[in-house]
Amino acid sequence: MFDWLVVGAGFAGSVIAERLASQRGESVLVVDRRNHVGGNAYDRYDDAGLLIHQYGPHIFHTNSEQIVDYLSQFTEWRPYEHRVLASVDGQLLPIPINRTTINKLYGLNLTTEEEVEAFLAERGERIEEIRTSADVVLSRVGRDLYEKFFRGYTRKQWGLDPSELDKQVTARVPTRANEDDRYFTDSFQAMPAGGFTRMFERMLSHPNIKVMLQTDFRDIRDVIPHRRVVFTGPVDEYFDFRFGKLPYRSLQFEHVTLEEEWHQPVAVVNYPQDRDYTRITEYKHLTGQQHPKTSITYEYPSDIGDPYYPVPREENQELYRQYKHLADATPNVHFIGRLATYRYYNMDQVVGQALAEFRRIQESIPVGAEV
Ligand code: FAD
Ligand code: UDP
Repeated sequence: MFDWLVVGAGFAGSVIAERLASQRGESVLVVDRRNHVGGNAYDRYDDAGLLIHQYGPHIFHTNSEQIVDYLSQFTEWRPYEHRVLASVDGQLLPIPINRTTINKLYGLNLTTEEEVEAFLAERGERIEEIRTSADVVLSRVGRDLYEKFFRGYTRKQWGLDPSELDKQVTARVPTRANEDDRYFTDSFQAMPAGGFTRMFERMLSHPNIKVMLQTDFRDIRDVIPHRRVVFTGPVDEYFDFRFGKLPYRSLQFEHVTLEEEWHQPVAVVNYPQDRDYTRITEYKHLTGQQHPKTSITYEYPSDIGDPYYPVPREENQELYRQYKHLADATPNVHFIGRLATYRYYNMDQVVGQALAEFRRIQESIPVGAEV
């Protein structure tokens, strides 16, 4: 009899399993239907010996000291600040849009933040209430920059026009009047020094934790005795799609090794105007690995395949709320993570959510309690 059955070995499942095992001394079985731990943050060495991210580029960034302290028990860090270029009108330009982007794109020489703000204010559209992902960008930078950098990319990535998506999607990407070309401005930005998978292995290597891979929850839920469940898979699947399918956006990844030392100047180049893929990632920029060859990944968005992104739209939230009511009313099952709570969360937010859920468990369930 396991005290806990944790479904999913990604950030949500691994963090809560580690806490339950190490802080409560309870027995935990972690199952994942994939053949590896780490969920979407899984990385591995490819045939050429280059460390790649199986499910697209993952860069760790956070403003929470508590989350850094927690994860630092399981990894050292390699400082890394992420920079992204967008291929627009035949040039590679900084995204988030900043002063350099505007100067290079329009052949200008704006030198102060005031000049850039004035340039943007002249073009930004007046929109009464910012509701959609189109509103966010149009109001800040105007139509030309919106169409060049955001409209095409978003249509590819989501299969929807920005006007059909909640504002939170494009609001993830700021616009800056200065020359800061970092993708994130969080106080802590780094990569796990030995890779993500190594960090997960350390987290899960505890005598109270057993991990079963290539194991679907549905196949073992009635077979392996357990008291309580933490579910981190898609919440609609848990309830057999009772209210209909929740939309999740998927991706197809094409991993390639090239016979050259470097392919592009930064880790990620976005393609908002042409190509079927959204972006190309070159991992050596992230990992610091030295190698005569280089491995890259093309990302092709898709409706079919594993669920990666909840799709932020009001109608989807409405459907999610129905599942959330059911989830709240299901005793002895805890729902956490990006798929189970249908939230467009970054890794640090998922860690924070799992630690918060653990605190609630500590407050409400005595160690070893029967159900
Ligand atoms: P997941 O990692 O999806 O783990 C869920 C696990 O549950 C999966 O392994 C799945 O196989 C398993 N599972 C589901 N159902 C079942 C079942 N029935 N039985 C058994 N197992 C099951 N975040 C950042 O902070 N920085 C980034 O740069 C970043 N880049 C990203 C890039 C891409 C392309 C994507 C898709 C995401 C990115 N993220 C990034 C977000 C990050 O991946 C997530 O926040 C985090 O991995 C979510 O962890 P999770 O445990 O909630 O879910
Ligand atoms: N986006 C865009 N052009 C870009 C970068 C981002 O239109 O060059 C939009 C797009 O809708 C994307 C969203 O902003 O889905 C959020 O971007 P982010 O880089 O945070 O996406 P993620 O890394 O989560 O896929």
